[in-house]
Amino acid sequence: MPDAMVAARASDAARGTPRQVDVAVVGAGFAGLYLLHRLRKAGFTTVALEEAGDVGGTWYWNRYPGARCDIQTIDYSYTFDPELEAAWTWSEKYATQPEILRYLGFVADRYELRRDIRFGTKVTEASWDEAAERWQLTTDNGAPVSCRHYIMATGCLSAPKPPEIDGVKDFKGEVYFTGRWPHDGVNLAGKRVAVIGTGSSGIQSIPLIAEQAAHLTVFQRTPNFALPAHNGPAPSDRMSLLQGDRAAYREQARQSMAGVPYPQQTAVSWQLSDAERRARFEEAWGKGDLVYILTQLWADQAVDVDGNRLICDLIREKISAVVKDPETAAALMPHDHPFGAKRPCLDTNYYATYNRSNVTLVNLRQEPIKAITAGGITTARRSVDVDVIVFATGFDAMTGAIRAVHPITGRGGKSLSDVWAQGPQTYLGLTVEGFPNFFMITGPGSPSVLSNMAVSIEQHVDWVVDRLAALRDAGFTTIEPTEAAQAGWNRHMADCSTLTLHRLANTWYTGANVPGKVQGVMPYTGGVGPYRSICDEVVSRGMLGFRLTGPNVAAQCNDGEAVRLQPDVRLVLNLLATLNLPPIESMGALGARAFVNEFNKGRPAGRPIGDVVDGTLPGTDGPLPYRVYKPAAPGPHPVVVYFHGGGWVLGDEQSDDPFCRDMVRRTGMMFVSVGYRHAPEHRFPTAAEDGYAATRWIAEHAAELGGKPGPVLVAGWSAGGNIAAVTCQLARDRGGPDIAGQLLLCPVTDCDFDRPSYNDNATGYFLTRSLMDWFWDLYCSPADRIDPRVSPLRGKVAGLPPAFVVTCEFDPLRDEGIAYAEAMAAAGVPVQQLKARGHFHSSFTMVDVVITGAPGRVQMAEALRRFAGLPPEVSLGDEHSHGHTSPGHRIAAAAS
Ligand SMILES: Cc1cc2nc3c(=O)[nH]c(=O)nc-3n(C[C@H](O)[C@H](O)[C@H](O)COP(=O)(O)OP(=O)(O)OC[C@H]3O[C@@H](n4cnc5c(N)ncnc54)[C@H](O)[C@@H]3O)c2cc1C
Repeated sequence: MPDAMVAARASDAARGTPRQVDVAVVGAGFAGLYLLHRLRKAGFTTVALEEAGDVGGTWYWNRYPGARCDIQTIDYSYTFDPELEAAWTWSEKYATQPEILRYLGFVADRYELRRDIRFGTKVTEASWDEAAERWQLTTDNGAPVSCRHYIMATGCLSAPKPPEIDGVKDFKGEVYFTGRWPHDGVNLAGKRVAVIGTGSSGIQSIPLIAEQAAHLTVFQRTPNFALPAHNGPAPSDRMSLLQGDRAAYREQARQSMAGVPYPQQTAVSWQLSDAERRARFEEAWGKGDLVYILTQLWADQAVDVDGNRLICDLIREKISAVVKDPETAAALMPHDHPFGAKRPCLDTNYYATYNRSNVTLVNLRQEPIKAITAGGITTARRSVDVDVIVFATGFDAMTGAIRAVHPITGRGGKSLSDVWAQGPQTYLGLTVEGFPNFFMITGPGSPSVLSNMAVSIEQHVDWVVDRLAALRDAGFTTIEPTEAAQAGWNRHMADCSTLTLHRLANTWYTGANVPGKVQGVMPYTGGVGPYRSICDEVVSRGMLGFRLTGPNVAAQCNDGEAVRLQPDVRLVLNLLATLNLPPIESMGALGARAFVNEFNKGRPAGRPIGDVVDGTLPGTDGPLPYRVYKPAAPGPHPVVVYFHGGGWVLGDEQSDDPFCRDMVRRTGMMFVSVGYRHAPEHRFPTAAEDGYAATRWIAEHAAELGGKPGPVLVAGWSAGGNIAAVTCQLARDRGGPDIAGQLLLCPVTDCDFDRPSYNDNATGYFLTRSLMDWFWDLYCSPADRIDPRVSPLRGKVAGLPPAFVVTCEFDPLRDEGIAYAEAMAAAGVPVQQLKARGHFHSSFTMVDVVITGAPGRVQMAEALRRFAGLPPEVSLGDEHSHGHTSPGHRIAAAAS
């Protein structure tokens, strides 16, 4: 495709009177072009306004040497039209900027899009005219535009960040910005060049600039992880997958986490040997595929600091193997962020470039730039004379281009900048409350830059255009999200941000690269597929969270929050729903036990700890099995007697293995999990009496078990929480043992099924009302149910050990747990409650599956340590002290 095909064509935009259209689009990049195409097909009159001289967006502006995409081009393409796909063949695995620009020009030509684009036209202001129900857009070139709907397709990375260094104006040489590179190129031959910045643009351009320049000095503030691109033809394995079943390949991308069709990894790092991990890493390194290495090494790589640190170490090894000068190699090694928390770069010869004699790296962490002078750059340690300065300093990402249209005035004269003063607030990353008929493509709050943007752009464009068509057909003229929906989305965004490690890095994802910008993770971290399903669900639930009005129809508002569950809880419950399992209570006790065993086999193994020892203890009617979980650090440790969950019917001393291990790591304490006897073989009060007898024996034999003599603690989940609570009452009434504290996790505390949580959460959250019914029937006759040994809420609650009570919002047992905590507190027991929002009954025991449960377990561990008289801070280092001295440990501390 010749470059001439994308040569700028002057727009014949009308000047003077406002142009009236149904929909105005700002931007003519990937997003704006597809919008124009879809809007036209849907029968809307439309115009696109574009500051640049032609189509292309990112690929129009970023013409610096080495500019390429970093998602494989077969994935980074439009997929809406199979004929378009057939008509274009990419020449390389990662296409260059000119080729991508030619592609976008080809698309514009194919669908005759340029006739509706006003080039060289920047939108400067936008305001909502309430009476007319239209947006008025002001431009810097030609007539304003009046439109019913205003769509910003202005790009996440289109507002270059101005340099923050004094004296740029004094510099007498040439200055270039990678994001605004001259169209006819720059001759750097024989010149002394400075590159400031080592993000993607710096890393792509530095090797090529070094080849031309007499000398290149790279000024680096923050090193970044870079991986070899191994560019060349598109890999045959990916091509044959695509060609084998194009539709399925594209669909898999749409449902994936990052917008590229790779499966979810299931093996966690601690299940793999060093050799297996290295083999996986080497394979990924050899592939040269960003999404592959970001997602396919092991399941915990992006969510757990330990799993992530293993990769950082391996990449740092690679850097030191390539870069000959040890000091330069050390300066190039990132230590301040987890791998993937900041966008890693794909490179071609980046690290090797520092072995060239004409390249110098200046580490700004050691010698900050003091000023730019007429002749060059002065740092705290040296002055470097240069002819050319290249700023590769990145973008005011995600919000920069939106806020650059100023003001955007919504309903009641509200300005978007004011509404976003504390950071972007959106519903679905698509709309903003107070700004009717206003849409953002890949706005903050959507997967956007954490995804293959071609996929995310198509999803947003399709969603918006389909909605506009549906509104029009139903007679609605305005659409606006509600306050509650937007607040809910912001909460969901915050919940999602605990899922990944992005929050632990200061990056352009969080706004940290722009001085004064409010910080927070701006893109949606919950994944492309889940996000798509939420957007679809909003529609299927009657435009949940949107207010729709029209002159001849009744206003419609189905107010509510799109997602109330924690993001990973939602995934788990959706997955369970797709399995279509029969109700557990229909399986019979034996069948249910077999099912639970099978189910547990599929979960990630518990993490390594110091030691696990099985044994038996004498119960009232014979031996009871137990399992001791010991920390790695030398003991003796305080002892926690633990009771597993399972409705007095299911489970055993091993069935909460991941939870016990996790708590041992977090508390540095010893857990003894008790195999109490089960119903229906052993009905009430066997489990309660076994629990008490076991606690007594363990307390008396703590030293023999390797624990610290003295008071023990008790803990339990669900029916195990019931046994723990009952044990505390029995120990109080029967003269011991001494119990220093109780951790009750979603405990059964009462036989009353009438509390609201039993109705609100009767079905849909795995533990159902009818399953609880079944458990009660198997364990306890109706006459016995008010006995405090099964309904401790009905017993005396004064004089009990201090308690930490955890309840989950979407759990039938929620309200009885709260009632027990409140009753104890009213009776003078020191009680702390964790009411876990968005969680379900199994959230905290599904360790490494429900990642958002980790902060709750941190609180539980702190409580147990406090009860045991230990300092509150949880020493993860007890279990893996090798990480302690590295800066990564600070990250680990923050992550816990
Ligand atoms: C160097 C680089 C490499 C990248 N590589 C990849 C990759 O490999 N994979 C990937 O998924 N993403 C990549 N991205 C992200 C890339 O931005 C998106 O993939 C995609 O091109 C965005 O398309 P868009 O249409 O949303 O925005 P853009 O392409 O940024 O287009 C927005 C357009 O809006 C115009 N505009 C903005 N404000 C106004 C205004 N007020 N008035 C008029 N016009 C305005 C701009 O001039 C621009 O042309 C890369 C980004 C950069 C900078």
